[in-house]
Amino acid sequence: MGSTSFMLSLDNDQIHQIKTHAQQCYPQECCGLLLGGLHPSLGDLQKTVDAVYPTDNVWDTAVSAPLAEDSHPKQTLTSARRYTIAPTDLIAAQKYARTQGWDIIGVYHSHPDQEAVPSECDRTWAWLQYSYVIVAVNQGISQDVCSWILNDQQQFQPEAMIVSAPMAASTLETDV
Ligand SMILES: [Zn+2]
Repeated sequence: MGSTSFMLSLDNDQIHQIKTHAQQCYPQECCGLLLGGLHPSLGDLQKTVDAVYPTDNVWDTAVSAPLAEDSHPKQTLTSARRYTIAPTDLIAAQKYARTQGWDIIGVYHSHPDQEAVPSECDRTWAWLQYSYVIVAVNQGISQDVCSWILNDQQQFQPEAMIVSAPMAASTLETDV
């Protein structure tokens, strides 16, 4: 108990994809899925991202859908503050992942002009074992990228990110 360590491995290309998507959607929240593999070993929960799978944020059109019983989002919430991935996108992603031998291992989304820290809404809708990667976008520029995962108490804890560098790091920061 209490010794579980979570880790998410991804590469700079994937980080770059997430940051770029976040900037394209600004000032709305972007969202997408992380496809890859789950590697539980010796109590650790390690995941590797094999692909970033961008989806549309359909929150504005899904707003009339039933909400979780314990969440009371304000009526003013829009896709600038929330995200929803369409079920059809989820199914398509799952099918695609299976053809590659992957699973959906997490979700990413952006926080326009907010910190890369999960909101109460994020927590309410979060699924166990998924990684929740959040990118903060300040004034249209993607900044911090953090990953979070639910612990046994259904609270988010930071998840370690292991970022490998297939690209020259110098090109990454300049061409977004
Ligand atoms: Zn959020």
